[in-house]
Amino acid sequence: MSQRVPILDLKPQYQVIKAEIKAAIDRVLESGQFILGPEVQQFEAAAADYLGVKHAIGVNSGTDALIISLRALGVEPGDEVITTPFSFFATAESISSVEAKPVFVDIEAASFNLDPAQIRAQITDKTKAILPVHLFGNPAAMAQIQAIAAEYHLKVLEDCAQSFGAVYQGDCIGCQQQCDDGLRSRLTGQRIGAIGDAGAFSFFPTKNLGAYGDAGLITTNDDAVAAMARQLRVHGEKKRYHNEMLGYNSRLDALQAAILGVKLPYIDQWNQQRRQVAETYNRLLEPVPNIVAPTITAGHVFHQYTVRVLGRQRDAVKAYLADHGIGAMIYYPIPQDRLPVYDGQFATCATSEQVASEVLSLPIWPEIDEATQVRVVSTLKDAIAQSQP
Ligand SMILES: *Cc1c(COP(=O)(O)O)cnc(C)c1O
Repeated sequence: MSQRVPILDLKPQYQVIKAEIKAAIDRVLESGQFILGPEVQQFEAAAADYLGVKHAIGVNSGTDALIISLRALGVEPGDEVITTPFSFFATAESISSVEAKPVFVDIEAASFNLDPAQIRAQITDKTKAILPVHLFGNPAAMAQIQAIAAEYHLKVLEDCAQSFGAVYQGDCIGCQQQCDDGLRSRLTGQRIGAIGDAGAFSFFPTKNLGAYGDAGLITTNDDAVAAMARQLRVHGEKKRYHNEMLGYNSRLDALQAAILGVKLPYIDQWNQQRRQVAETYNRLLEPVPNIVAPTITAGHVFHQYTVRVLGRQRDAVKAYLADHGIGAMIYYPIPQDRLPVYDGQFATCATSEQVASEVLSLPIWPEIDEATQVRVVSTLKDAIAQSQP
């Protein structure tokens, strides 16, 4: 019996960086400084430099990065924030947590990302910001989104939780929206998180750049937004014990910062390996019927490798894979706007609903070998043949 193939295996990465990680952890333990401090400052500076952004502010999690960014951008109770229905719930949850209202605009099926052609129709007097997600590591249509934001004076907060290191390449997979070529060429080549008014990153252990616990980061080129985010992460104080507003206890731990500092120099290599894994899957999947493989672009960092299974057989295919030792996952089975928490509040986004019934994410990590991918695809082929109605 061959070994189970998990959806993600973090062990090969750890084997490579083990000695460096242990030295970094030891350095922090010896220093006695565990919250913020020099390790955090060093990582913030290295991350800002890598991402090509003026400020990087370490926080507790990606969710906190979203919440604090929304508040730092001036989103207030009653404001509307346009976002995608097709994401992890932290995206919409952050909007609702600051008592603003999420306004869900449907996705383009080909990219799984917010469809910029449908944004304008949802803008009202209360719209304050657009919150695109670079889902699965694929940059959203930023030129089109930035152009709309400029026209209507809206803020843009990028949810970069799944896309550390992704580069905007001006791609418009499936996008029908005309866009400004000047703006598009100016943004092309920039890393995501450096384009909007702010970016929110997660270093949850399974993300492309993962800590060994919860951690997150806010990026911005705006000095005032950065100052506000720094104040909000420490209970709303600029000066110790002079709290000026309700904030959060949301600091990046020195241990996590030191770990992330070890991993950061490897991220381009790991992302490149993920892209190669995606290319191999696309090649192997070409002859497989009823599977729509993702479009591979130069800036996509494949946090997930997600196909669409057509013909209403996704659930049967997933069950077959599980029975044969292949860990495939559904990200996400229910669009955010359909979750019980929002019971009946929102009109359906048809594409997002359709895609949620078709998506299947296959095992991917930088070091997965081709033989394992061949096994995943041949099992998938059997699953499709078995579950054909
Ligand atoms: C993981 C994730 C988050 C939340 O990050 P945490 O660090 O788990 O709080 C937000 N948005 C998206 C799209 C995510 O995938």
